[in-house]
This record gives sequence, structure tokens and C-alpha cells, in this order.
Amino acid sequence: MSEIPKAYEPEKVEQKWYRFWMEQGYFTPVVDHSKKPFVIIMPPPNVTGELHLGHALTATLEDIMIRWRRMKGDSALWLPGVDHAGIATQVVVEQQLAREGLDRHQIGREKFIERVWEWVKKSRGAITYQHQRLGASCDWTRERFTLDEGPSLAVRIAFVRLYEKGLIYRGERIINWCPRCQTALSDLEVQHKDITGNLYYLRYPLADGSGSVTVATTRPETYLGDTAVAVNPEDRRFQGLVGKKVVLPVIGREISIIADSAVDPTFGTGAVKVTPAHDPVDFEISERQGLPLINILNPDATMNEQAGPYAGLDRFACREKIVADFKKAGLLEKIEPHHHSVGHCDRCQTMVEPEVSQQWFVKTGPLAEAAIRVVKEGRITIIPDRFAKVYLNWMENIRDWCISRQLWWGHRIPVWYCGRCGGLTVAVEEPSCCKHCGSSEIAQDPDVLDTWFSSALWPHSTLGWPQQTEELSYFYPTSVMETGYDILFFWVARMIMMGLEDTGDIPFRTVYLHGLIRDEKGEKMSKMRGNVLSPITAIDEYGTDALRFAVTTGTSPGNDINLGRHRLEAGRNFANKLWNAGRFVLRSLETAPAESEVLAGFFSQRPQTMEDRWILSRLNRLVMSVDRAMSDFQFGEAERQVHDFFWGDFCDWYIEIAKIRLSRGDSSPLPVLALVLETTLRLLHPFMPFITEELWQEMKQRLPGAPGAASIVIAPYPVAGEGLVDTEAERVMDSVIEIVRSIRNARAENKVPAERWVEARVYADSLASAIESQSESIEILARARPLAVLSRDQRQSREEKSLVLVLKEAEVVLPRAGMLDIEAERKRLEKEIGINEREIDRLRQRLQDDAFLSKAPQAVVEKEGGRLQACQDKLLRLRQELGQLS
Ligand SMILES: [Zn+2]
Ligand SMILES: [Zn+2]
Repeated sequence: MSEIPKAYEPEKVEQKWYRFWMEQGYFTPVVDHSKKPFVIIMPPPNVTGELHLGHALTATLEDIMIRWRRMKGDSALWLPGVDHAGIATQVVVEQQLAREGLDRHQIGREKFIERVWEWVKKSRGAITYQHQRLGASCDWTRERFTLDEGPSLAVRIAFVRLYEKGLIYRGERIINWCPRCQTALSDLEVQHKDITGNLYYLRYPLADGSGSVTVATTRPETYLGDTAVAVNPEDRRFQGLVGKKVVLPVIGREISIIADSAVDPTFGTGAVKVTPAHDPVDFEISERQGLPLINILNPDATMNEQAGPYAGLDRFACREKIVADFKKAGLLEKIEPHHHSVGHCDRCQTMVEPEVSQQWFVKTGPLAEAAIRVVKEGRITIIPDRFAKVYLNWMENIRDWCISRQLWWGHRIPVWYCGRCGGLTVAVEEPSCCKHCGSSEIAQDPDVLDTWFSSALWPHSTLGWPQQTEELSYFYPTSVMETGYDILFFWVARMIMMGLEDTGDIPFRTVYLHGLIRDEKGEKMSKMRGNVLSPITAIDEYGTDALRFAVTTGTSPGNDINLGRHRLEAGRNFANKLWNAGRFVLRSLETAPAESEVLAGFFSQRPQTMEDRWILSRLNRLVMSVDRAMSDFQFGEAERQVHDFFWGDFCDWYIEIAKIRLSRGDSSPLPVLALVLETTLRLLHPFMPFITEELWQEMKQRLPGAPGAASIVIAPYPVAGEGLVDTEAERVMDSVIEIVRSIRNARAENKVPAERWVEARVYADSLASAIESQSESIEILARARPLAVLSRDQRQSREEKSLVLVLKEAEVVLPRAGMLDIEAERKRLEKEIGINEREIDRLRQRLQDDAFLSKAPQAVVEKEGGRLQACQDKLLRLRQELGQLS
């Protein structure tokens, strides 16, 4: 048996146990129809790099659930994975190339992809290592990458099926274009920022020379793509103009003035320019009115040949030049400052251009219908439920999803275009010829799919779909999808749509959304603010269990968490408290008189003493309450309860009383000490896996006869013995604790030195004899001696010079003589009386001094009078106090 170190050293414990758990295969469940499956698919972190605290929170919450259900006897599968993160990863590797003075086009698609794979290999290893440091008990044998063969096949099959059902189409739509990344973005990948720009009022001359129409725009350069001017049909101001033509200055194109009810008559002048190729509203107008589309931009946001004399200019330089030219021609009516929201690329912060483009889309309407139904019908529960409303609202207004990206890194779109007949061949495996004309002159679409397309299939593709594997039928639908509320639409909604579409079943039964981690002031953590704390740094400094405790204790679903050093310190303090208490119990077990006796007590004995009955009652209540909280997904609350029980009831009270019993040598508290410690370790294991395993294993060594698992990981989760709930013992011990606390408080308030014993009398009614049985504990814990426990009718009507503490079920009387060092108190009071008397003399003289009274303002005189009164009052009370002492 090894000596237990004085202090808990996480670094000596964590890696050892993680390795042991892996070797034993505890994290790899098997298909076992006698057990219930419990499944969490880990949200795959982006392969782009280091885990942040948000990942640590995800990993901790999921590990809590998985370890808990594993101990409950479920076949618990936590499947880890990594996302190839299309655009994010491509941007990182492009930046690497840029540092070498290269861009991806110079090295070509194939070489570029090779570079990304190289980088991915390194990065994946780092992510796995970090998860293992966090104690994540996921099944590494089933780890998946979104670009693995299985998930890739799932992507192609899902695409082809949706295409064949008419739910994927290729079309010209307005999309968000990032000129830096040179790809389309979905609406969710665009960040809207409020900026102060300008509203330019441009004058378009009428073709018949009878005047002009003024339009207002924030992007004057887009006038080059105008194909109409539109007014609201109800707007009387323009009634004579509809049907006339205007001439676009400089380029001289004639366009018509049309009426369309989408025009807001209160914006600008009421007449708006229509640029269908660069504005979503204008695009819709053009569809209704049959207007042509003129795209004026190159992919890099320079002006293309449609811009005539402006071709080749960058979009912003072009804007300046156009404004100058209009001004010169007298066609710029005015410029007004204007606040508006402008889209930026989520990855590179470049201002995006709305642009008409030929892209692939998922027709989301029919998919959303089913996804709305399963939430409304309660087949999927969203926690916290306020997010169910957000989800439904979004789904009911969902727009088609642009899924093609002009990137190289990702799942290539499984579509081949025929060079001869122009037909499309959409196929799961690469075709050898066009399915329409048989020509072998076919080329695959160069684009890749939005990263979230493969993520949307994650719950079923990781379990083997499209193959009908045994695992898929056993582990699917999964149990819980745990993730941040910030990706409810990006991801959760799309998994529900695609899961239902592909498998006919929901992908998970519960969606648990956690909050974001912010710094201690509630600020978002970001590299720019310099307030980022890496999980590995925190683990090195405080230990994994402390970090896990810090990110989860006392938190609730959906709410943000402010994490500062103080929370991490609280985590470490709790680990140390566990260690110290555990060490005390373990060392006491070593000196147990007879091991067999302890063991007998451990497993069979009914509790004998009041405090044993009490702590077991509290423990069993805790087990019930923790189980309830865990089932309600209130993990932070469950953890707080275990913490409070262990620190308060067990360490502060039971262990302190046990020490008195151990020193006395009769009726050993060891069986109960061991039982409570062991049960608490199992309760806490899902939250703090390492320290609980270490102490639990030490305990096993000291209780060799005890039956049990080889590891706490597979030990059963505690089950409450309702018969052990003992309200009588709780009532007595609550009273005992209240008595001790109140005496301690009174001692502190009266500054009684710690070593001094004070006399105390406790009066109670029905509890008197029960409290009496605890008098030795009260004496020692409150340093109250002599202590008498009496019934209320023995109380004298008037207590002489005593402090009386009125409690719930008792009164405590503390004679002042016992509380105070009389001689020292007499001296202190006499000194204070002296000071007061001298002050009174001084003030009296002053208030009788004619010189003072004639010169001083009235307010000052009154103030001095008030001070005299206060000193006289105080003197009176000081003299009374002194009189009480004798
Ligand atoms: Zn970008
Ligand atoms: Zn063909």
C-alpha cells in the first residue's frame, strides 16, 4: 500500500488513469441488446487548430453525460470526430502560402490539396491530444473525419438522392460573394456590421430631354448594372413618368421607368435604381418584370467589361471616380451620411458583394416542414426550451441553402458536365461518359460543397449510413446533441432536416444548447482583446478536474458563463478539499483496529449514532436530488449540490464529529466515513474523473475484501436508499449545527479568543435529550464548557447578565462572564469613559466661550451641540456596561 501524498498533484494522476482507461477499452461500447444505448455524437471541431474553452465546455458536458450513463449501465457511445472546415481551413493554408510568396493558383489544385492534408495531419493529432487531456471518455476507435471514405460516400449519396427528388437544383440566384475568398457564401456565413456610409443622390436624365429622375443609392458604382428605374405604383409623384426612359450617364444606356409595389416610397426620393444582378430585392423585381441581368464585377471585385470606361478599376476606386464624374456633369444632387448594415465575410472580414451567380441550392422548404413537425410534436426536445421558438421561427422562414463553394478543399460536387451535349450527369461514383449522349468528353464541376453539408449528415454518416449497419440500427437515433446555441441554424437545424430525409428518423432525441464562455467581466473572449485562456494552459496550472469544475458548476443550459481565475481557483480548492478529506479517511482506515470489523460495518451495519443516521440521510437525499437534476440536464446544479454536501455536511460537520469519536475510541465512525466518501466519489466521477479514480483506487486497496469494479469508470452510479432518509436525525442534527454555529458567531462578535472555553446552557423542549446525546460534539466544536442541555421549564425567568441566542428549536444562554475577560473589559471600558469625559469637557467649554459663540456661524455651533449630546449618550451606555461587569 502506497503512502498517500500530502497534496493532490494532478499531473501525476491524470495521464496514468487516462492510459489505463484506454487500455481497458472502457470507452468502446459494443452493440448489446440487453442494454440501452446512450449516444452522443461529438460536434466535430474544425481541423483548423487549437481547442478553445468553448470546446472544453462541450467536451466536459458531454463527458459528464456519457460517464453518468455508462455508470448507470447503458451502452454509452461518445463518437468523436473532426471537421475538414472547408473555407476556414483553406484560408489558413492560403495564408501559409502567402508567407512563402505563393498563392494556390500558382501551385495548382492537386499540390494545394496535398499541402492541406499535410497540415491537417498535424492539426488532428493536436486536437486528439487536447481532448484526452480534458479526460474525454470518447471512443477513439470510432473516430471520424468528414472527408473519410464513409462520410464522403454519404455526402455523394445524399446529394444524388436530393437531386433526383428535385430538392437540389442549379440556378442563378443572388448569393453573397467574398472577393477575397472568391467563393459564394451562405447567408449564415455573412456577418452584418453597422457602418456609416453615404447615400448618393444621382440624377438620371430623361431620354426625351424633359427633365430628370433622381435615385438614391449607397453603392453608386452599381448604376453600371442598372436595367430599370422603379417607383411604387401608388406614388402620385411619379405617375406621369412610368413608361418613359432615362439615359444612364457616361455609358449612355437607355432604361425604362417601371412601377413595382416592392419599392418603398419613403426611401430616398421614392424612385429607385434597379440592379438585379447585385441586389436581392432588385433581383426579385427583375423576375417579376422580366428585366435583364447585368453583372458588372469580376470575381475579385474589380469592374468587368460591362463597366465600359471603368473596366479594370477596383470597386471602391470605381465608386470615387463615378461620383466625381457625376459631380462634374452636374448630375450629383447631394450626398448624405447614412447608417446601414453591410455584410462581411465571416472568415476574412472582407466586404461581400451580393451578386447573381450560377450556384447549387438545396430547396429547403419541404425538408423544413418535416423538421418543424418533429419539434412541434415533441419527438425532439430542445433545451432550454426558449430556443425551440427561435428554431421554429427560423425554420418557418427558411430560404434555399446555397451549397456550392468555389473552393478546392472539401467534398467535390458529384456532377459532370458534357462537352458535347451540355447535359448533366449526377452520380455517386465517377462516370466514364455522359448519360445523355454517351460522350466521354465530360468534366466534373470544379466546386466543392459547403462544409455544413457534410456536417448535416454527421449523426447518421458516422454510424455507417448509407449501409444499414448493426451499429446504425442500434445507436441511431442518437440520444443527445450537445452544442452551442450559436450554431443552432448552421448545424442543428440542418442535421434534423437531413437526418429525417436520409434515414426517415430523427437524428437525436434531445438538443442541449450550452452558453458561450466569456471572460470574468462578461466580455467575449477573442485574440484581439487578449483575454483568451487556452484549456491546456488552465489544465497545466490548475488540473483537468479543476477546469471541468470551473466551466460547469452552477451553470445552466443556454446561459453564458463568465470564467475567470477565481472560478478556476474554486475548482482547485475543491479538488484539494476532496483530497484532504479523502486522505484523512484513508489514513484512518489504515489504523482501523480490525479490518473485517470495518468491512462488516461498511456493508451491513445499520447506522447507530445520531450523526451517522443524519449523514446517511443527507447522503441519500443528495443521491436522489442529483439523479433528478442529471435527468433534467441540470448538470451544473447537480455538481453544486455534491460540492455543497461534501464541503459542508461531510467535511465541516461529520468529519469533525468523527474526529472526536476516533480520539475517544468507541463506536467507530469508520464504516460510515468510508461509505460516504466512496459514494460521493462515484457521484462526482462524471464531473471530476481523475481525482475520483485516484482516491477510489486508493480506497479499494485499503478495503481488500470489498466487492467492486476494476475502475470507478464502470462502477455503478449511486442509487438512493429511501429507507435511510431519517427526518428525525436531520431535525436533531440541524439543531446541533445551529447551536454550534450560533455560539461560534457570538464568540466571534464578542472577540472571544479561540482558545478560551465559554460556559453555555441550551434550553430545548422535545429535542432536549437528543441534543444532550450530542453534547460532547457541541462542547468541542463550539468550545463551550461547561455545557448544560436543559428543558425549557428549567429556565429561570431572568437570566443574569447573559447573551441569549434564540434559535429555531432551542435557546442558547451564554453568561457574559464566560464570554469576556472581565478585567481586560473593565480596563477597556474605563479607558473609553475617560476619553469621552475629556471630550465632553472640551465641548462644554467651547459652547460657553463668548468669543466662539459670537464668531462661529450658527450651523457650526449647532454641530458642536450635537456632538456634545452624542458623547453624553455614549458615556451613559458605557457606564451601564461597566456596571454590568461587576
Ligand atoms: Zn472571405
Ligand atoms: Zn452528353
